[in-house]
Amino acid sequence: MSARVLVVDDVPANVKLLEAKLSAEYYDVLTASNGPEALAICERGEPDIVLLDVMMPGMNGFEVCRRLKSQPTTAHIPIVMVTTLDQPRDRLQGLDAGADDFLTKPLDDTALLARVRSLTRLKAMTDELRSRAIASRRLGIADPLAAAAAETGLNGRVLIVEDRAHAAERLNGALSAFHAVEIETDTQQALLRAAEEEFDCVLVSLDIEGQDGLRLCSQLRSLERTRDLSVLLMGESEDRGRILRGLEIGAHDFLLRPIDRNELLARVRTQIRRKRFTDRLRDSLQSSMEMAVLDQLTGLHNRRFMDSRLASMFDESVMRARSLSLLVLDVDHFKTVNDSWGHDAGDEVLREFAERVRSCTRGIDVVARMGGEEIVVLLPDTAAPAAQAVAERIRERVEQQGFPIQAGQRQIRVTVSIGVSSRKAGDQSSADMMKRADDALYQAKAGGRNRVIVDEAA
Ligand code: GH3
Ligand code: MG
Ligand code: MG
Repeated sequence: MSARVLVVDDVPANVKLLEAKLSAEYYDVLTASNGPEALAICERGEPDIVLLDVMMPGMNGFEVCRRLKSQPTTAHIPIVMVTTLDQPRDRLQGLDAGADDFLTKPLDDTALLARVRSLTRLKAMTDELRSRAIASRRLGIADPLAAAAAETGLNGRVLIVEDRAHAAERLNGALSAFHAVEIETDTQQALLRAAEEEFDCVLVSLDIEGQDGLRLCSQLRSLERTRDLSVLLMGESEDRGRILRGLEIGAHDFLLRPIDRNELLARVRTQIRRKRFTDRLRDSLQSSMEMAVLDQLTGLHNRRFMDSRLASMFDESVMRARSLSLLVLDVDHFKTVNDSWGHDAGDEVLREFAERVRSCTRGIDVVARMGGEEIVVLLPDTAAPAAQAVAERIRERVEQQGFPIQAGQRQIRVTVSIGVSSRKAGDQSSADMMKRADDALYQAKAGGRNRVIVDEAA
């Protein structure tokens, strides 16, 4: 997964070094030499992740981090603080400022790439949730962006797989203030529990006597039930080779012994957030949302979406005493198009028809294909005369220019009939408006087609 990494450091040589390492792994690298510059780049929404030096003249890394995390437009960008080994307090201060993780100078390649990769995954999840938030806002259902922002990564269920009691107890001591922690000493038992219980994150020791932590890691990734579980490896620095191997087979990140408490907390938290975002995206309602509201042939909204929007627009227009109109459009003699030129030509006409209707409407109007050659347009804050004008404009736009078929080799004439209705005081629900628009459309057809009829009651 490629990503854009912003490297912020006041020492040009440090920037160059990181740029070289990251570019070699196919990351796009942006650079900034001070805090304000970094803030400006983040405001423009460019980076997927920020590597932030702590010690910088003027605005230091903590301050930059705090500002990024306090802005709604930048709060979701993961930040790795680059600290020095002899300043362990920096990590605590970094956590307080909202940092997502740490790296220590001099930078170790494995750690650098593991951190960037892990946080890039997290960012991809957040981005997906953010884009879906737009779709669900349109639908008027609960906003997953708010839910994503509120996701703290706390109160998770963590499984520690470690056979040395004192090591397990130290981890437990640090984590149990924030999470529900379980300890397992046997890897096969751990696999069973992971598959049967609802954990968010598994910490796997690579040093369990007579057992293979890497094997557990690969088993966790291959089982359907545990595939999305976050896996953190724990090993000695001499274990570098096995840690790398573990990251290749799907571990999400690692911790080196002796394990720093703040690193542990930050990394577990990141992994719990990632796991929860994954779960949310997998939620069938979420993932099918876009598919569920769009018409495949024309890209317009579909009937289901229109029904839900019409109901809420109707209520809103009643509460605010605003006008609301709707158009029902039906292509004239469309069956003849199919019969004469084939079903594919009919589809070409429908796509072009949809495009012309869309081009005659505003962004806040809802244009939906109801099925067949029928389109409905909802016009909020629009009274009957203006709705009639829109309908007339669409009718002309359809009639005046032929519709290309057979990939543009031919043009055929098409006309449309349109029924218009507006909300009136006695209406009980949007169904009343819909009924009157349908009646008006019927009159337009009966009266000879290619015309707009406005419901008299309007
Ligand atoms: P009228 O002027 O009374 O509206 O006549 P019409 O022929 O347009 O109306 P009718 O409802 O009889 O025919 C609609 C046709 O639209 C019939 C159906 O086969 C065709 N149709 C429905 N959906 C699609 C589609 O997705 N693609 C194509 N090509 N044709 C479709
Ligand atoms: Mg028709
Ligand atoms: Mg029809």
